[in-house]
Amino acid sequence: MNQPFRPSQFEVDKPLSQLSTFGIGGPARFFTEVQKTEDLQAVLKYCHAQNLPFLIVGKGSNCLFDDRGFDGVVVLNKIVFCQWEWPIVHAGAGYSFSLLGTQTARKGWAGLEFASGIPGSIGGAVYMNAGASGTETCEALTEVSFVNEQGDLEVLKRDQIAFSYRFSNFQKRKGAIASAKFLLGPSEEARKKQLGIIDYRTRTQPYSDKSAGCVFRNPESHSAGALIQQCGLKGKRIGGAEVSTLHANFIVNKDNATSQDVLALAEEVKKTVKEKTGVELEMEVRYIPREKDVLSC
Ligand SMILES: Cc1cc2nc3c(=O)[nH]c(=O)nc-3n(C[C@H](O)[C@H](O)[C@H](O)COP(=O)(O)OP(=O)(O)OC[C@H]3O[C@@H](n4cnc5c(N)ncnc54)[C@H](O)[C@@H]3O)c2cc1C
Repeated sequence: MNQPFRPSQFEVDKPLSQLSTFGIGGPARFFTEVQKTEDLQAVLKYCHAQNLPFLIVGKGSNCLFDDRGFDGVVVLNKIVFCQWEWPIVHAGAGYSFSLLGTQTARKGWAGLEFASGIPGSIGGAVYMNAGASGTETCEALTEVSFVNEQGDLEVLKRDQIAFSYRFSNFQKRKGAIASAKFLLGPSEEARKKQLGIIDYRTRTQPYSDKSAGCVFRNPESHSAGALIQQCGLKGKRIGGAEVSTLHANFIVNKDNATSQDVLALAEEVKKTVKEKTGVELEMEVRYIPREKDVLSC
């Protein structure tokens, strides 16, 4: 029998800037960390019973939190187990996606080499259908354990989940991914491929700056970064936020940027690209407003 969640387990006013790779964000009204699926179930049951909005955070590498914080419960997913049963790897949603990509490649297991260098969690990668180098998370995925908003556990096979470019239908559901299974294949080239991917990333992306990865989705048959660069926007600054001089689709927190600085700069980039090229850019980074229905962000 699971232990019920007690509100005394909440930390109050946790700065969200500490949970985001952007280093931006005000206080979460309530904060808790979960290490086991049962704890995740208990906290979601509690939120459901109390009608409290909640937000699940993995590594915070795709989120822009509001300067005014989040008026609800923030649950940090720290379910970090990893079970190896060739050719399946089963990982907790809080496990590092990048580490899994590196570890599988080192073992000569192919299919997740692209994950190496994506600084998210397994849960965030599945939720976002993260991808790179022409591969997406959903490709090697076979199964997801998902805690629904009532706190009940559902085990979903890959064909029960809809995925497309940076989309999974978890974005349309309230709940939390608890773990995922991936099916991998043997490859003598896996390690070499993964090392090539990480080398390319570190040369072309601003890893030493605070960011949340690519700000905009790539529009059909275009590269968002190339369009932004073509419009002469590299280095453009609003407050402490700057369009990276290394990769134009990154906005970096150069000097105590606020969420408003980042949003204003993203808006300016969108407007300029639309005026100069006719292409409409769409945000990939998830802006989390202070008050929200969890499905809206
Ligand atoms: C330097 C850099 C490089 C990057 N490169 C890439 C890249 O090549 N390709 C790419 O696709 N992305 C890239 N990203 C973006 C980001 O790393 C990925 O989108 C990653 O998958 C997000 O995982 P996360 O754990 O950080 O998610 P978070 O930022 O914590 O959350 C993102 C969204 O997922 C939801 N979420 C997170 N965990 C769960 C869960 N367990 N259950 C339900 N919902 C959940 C959150 O509520 C939020 O809406 C990059 C980011 C950075 C900073």
